Amino acid sequence: MPRDYNAVVSEIMFVTSEHMVLRVVPDGWEMSDYVPGQFATLGLPGGSARIPLSDPESEVPDPDKFIVRAYSIASSSVHKKYLEFYITLVRSGGLTPRLFALQRGDRLHLGPKITGVFTLDRIPEEANAVLIATGTGVAPYMSMIRTFLTPESPRRFTVVHGARHSWDLGYRSELATLSRMLPHFHYIPMISRPEEEITPWGGETGYVQQIWGRGIIAEQWGLEPTPDNTHVFLCGNPGMIESAVEVLAVDGFKEHTKKEPGQVHLERYW
Ligand SMILES: Cc1cc2nc3c(=O)[nH]c(=O)nc-3n(C[C@H](O)[C@H](O)[C@H](O)COP(=O)(O)OP(=O)(O)OC[C@H]3O[C@@H](n4cnc5c(N)ncnc54)[C@H](O)[C@@H]3O)c2cc1C
Repeated sequence: MPRDYNAVVSEIMFVTSEHMVLRVVPDGWEMSDYVPGQFATLGLPGGSARIPLSDPESEVPDPDKFIVRAYSIASSSVHKKYLEFYITLVRSGGLTPRLFALQRGDRLHLGPKITGVFTLDRIPEEANAVLIATGTGVAPYMSMIRTFLTPESPRRFTVVHGARHSWDLGYRSELATLSRMLPHFHYIPMISRPEEEITPWGGETGYVQQIWGRGIIAEQWGLEPTPDNTHVFLCGNPGMIESAVEVLAVDGFKEHTKKEPGQVHLERYW
């Protein structure tokens, strides 16, 4: 089926000039049901405007052909008024410089097929979940938390979110508020460049995979996370994912594959 403009931007919120929360509504059709953690595709034609902050393109794309990429859904699957995405600008990229030039009311392509297996329904109901992300990799966790986190949820959830600076940590206030309200929900924001902060950063520093060795999750839970009681999700930068898989393997956590079930679940963004 040819791609077309079939959706409308209902809201754009800039976290920084290079991170945005984009809400999209299908235009004249109903979006299908989805499971938190899944992704959809967004697209714009090569001829659409790019923001000045982006790098010049070495090759000019076909102006009529849609450039399409995958984006994890950040909104809850229970209220389906819009699909929310959390997107970072890749200055040299094909699509993101065009997405960042959009305004409320503009039209774009939203792929009607929502898919992906990076979901909580593949882990036991009582298993605790550690959700580790870099950058916009927190998006699928927002959908999971906005859908499944209730005062009665049986499992402990911890979100570990890493970025360079505190101002790059999208959804920080929502996650921090939830962690203050719900004893079984914990949020660990981490930054890798504390020396560049405007005001002193009192939280965790370094890379998200380093959190595992610090004993913080066990302290917050009052329980050591082990492969018998916990599943770990890793999303975002592939370098972080490789490194975290190695760190987790030392404690007996195995990568989940189609052939062999394990406790480590991966979503690589590139
Ligand atoms: C299942 C899945 C879900 C995804 N969900 C998201 C999401 O929720 N939010 C999001 O911002 N991106 C997400 N991505 C990445 C997205 O599909 C695009 O690759 C990204 O937006 C860059 O597109 P582009 O056309 O601008 O760059 P391209 O021209 O496609 O250039 C790709 C290059 O950009 C870099 N890159 C790609 N993604 C990122 C990123 N997130 N941060 C830093 N550098 C990156 C890599 O070097 C990659 O090789 C997801 C990818 C997959 C496979």
